[in-house]
Amino acid sequence: AGLPNRISDVVTRMAEERPTGLALTEPGRAWTFGDLARIVGDTAQALGRLGVRPGDRILIVSENSLALAALLFAASKLDAWAVVASPRLSGREVDQIGTHSGARRAFYVIGIGQQAAEHARRNGAVVEALPGLGQVAVGPLDAEAVPEPVHAAAEEQVAVLLYTSGTTGNPKGVMLTHRNLLFSAFVSGSLRSIGPADCIYGVLPMSHIVGLTIILVSSIMFGALVRVVPQYDPADLAAAIAEDTTIIYGVPATYQRLLEYKAVKGLPKLAAGKLRCMFVAGAPLDLTLKARVEEELGQPLLNGYGITECSPGVSSVQSAYREDDTVGTIIPGVETRVVDRSGRTVASGEVGELHVRGPNVMRGYYRAPEATAAAIDADGWFKTGDLARFAGEDMYIVGRSKELIIRSGFNVYPPEVEAVLSSHPDVVQSAVIGRAVEGNEEVVGYVQLLPGSKLSSADLLAFVRPLLTPYKRPAEIVILDVLPASSTGKILKHKLAEAARTT
Ligand code: ATP
Repeated sequence: AGLPNRISDVVTRMAEERPTGLALTEPGRAWTFGDLARIVGDTAQALGRLGVRPGDRILIVSENSLALAALLFAASKLDAWAVVASPRLSGREVDQIGTHSGARRAFYVIGIGQQAAEHARRNGAVVEALPGLGQVAVGPLDAEAVPEPVHAAAEEQVAVLLYTSGTTGNPKGVMLTHRNLLFSAFVSGSLRSIGPADCIYGVLPMSHIVGLTIILVSSIMFGALVRVVPQYDPADLAAAIAEDTTIIYGVPATYQRLLEYKAVKGLPKLAAGKLRCMFVAGAPLDLTLKARVEEELGQPLLNGYGITECSPGVSSVQSAYREDDTVGTIIPGVETRVVDRSGRTVASGEVGELHVRGPNVMRGYYRAPEATAAAIDADGWFKTGDLARFAGEDMYIVGRSKELIIRSGFNVYPPEVEAVLSSHPDVVQSAVIGRAVEGNEEVVGYVQLLPGSKLSSADLLAFVRPLLTPYKRPAEIVILDVLPASSTGKILKHKLAEAARTT
């Protein structure tokens, strides 16, 4: 029937096709597709009564929840933009997003975790009766908010505004249209043959692009059930794997913590009932971790590369065991090129910056025309800031151009050094950054060790010595209790030096 016009249309379509099929569950609640469509309709009416107009931005602050899904699709019905933010952000960060987006109203889904309620209190939000949604606090109406013009073609209208986690600088508001999300959701679901028999473990935050598009929108589009998980708990994941989960989407930290849980509990093996696919994206995949996860669960751990600005899908490994850390082949309908610093396409197999073009590429950064012009060129190529190379059809991400360390003229790619550090059995996580020294850069490693490990920084320096050529060796290795991470478990590299000073 072709792609629908709005993300809310996937709900309407599935409610017609499978009204009694189970769509979303969360602890204590379950909605069929029929329930979901009805509640989305009621919520859209409620939003209208609360003063939300087409072209308005509404801020949704919520852990993964059914209410978040209802608010998102309701906004879509009204041609309003959903700005989804994690309650785990600080007060300053949430308020910055509210202000920058010029949101007409803010919705805080409270009763799931403590943090959303705190943000609501700080902003004077009050609990409103939103039928079917549970506890939602609504922030005061901003009468000054100016609606954005509504696009004549519904699919070209902005559906969501997602602020990047700012691992490489200030958060930017990524404008994604209905078409961006629907295309990405469609390709993802088709490549993985998602269908009504699937039960998808929805732990990645829906305030982030993977949770939003690949888990929520795509599953509904293909009639699969999402088990909506508000807070990651490896015990719950282990139980869900033993029960009915068929597909897991995670970041490396999701799997890392699952294995730690198993070790701490002394479990002989994790039981996998109906599991058929495990996906990982979002950060470099450590091969030691990959091997352990595959061994444990008896399924390949499929790596994929994505970025918020590309809604997020760019490439994925298609279903086979791979021994290396390829991020797979480029998804259908998307074009890529790899260029050098002067913008020329590099020879095949060489490293350069990855550019992407296609229906997955964002409209632009909100209220930042210069940043948008710097990111997307006149021919529609989006510059990812990631360094990639190809071997045949397979893509490899070797690092981020901003994080590239240039040591005495030699390129050091942090993921390579991180992989070496993480191959030590006592190292749980590692991160490598450059530090300026006298016109040069040196390599600095940060590691988090297994609880109780007696390993010293000198031991680790000795461990990496034979494994790395001199210019790649860290000048210093700092041991931290925990590495600072975003709500998706991504290490916030700009905070490492700060964290080291306070420990
Ligand atoms: P910001 O853009 O503000 O730094 P962010 O890093 O959280 O925030 P995202 O869009 O969430 O932005 O993440 C995209 C980045 O994650 C990519 O640019 C890339 O560096 C990294 N990434 C994603 N998937 C992979 C992967 N499979 N392997 C290696 N790196 C990956």
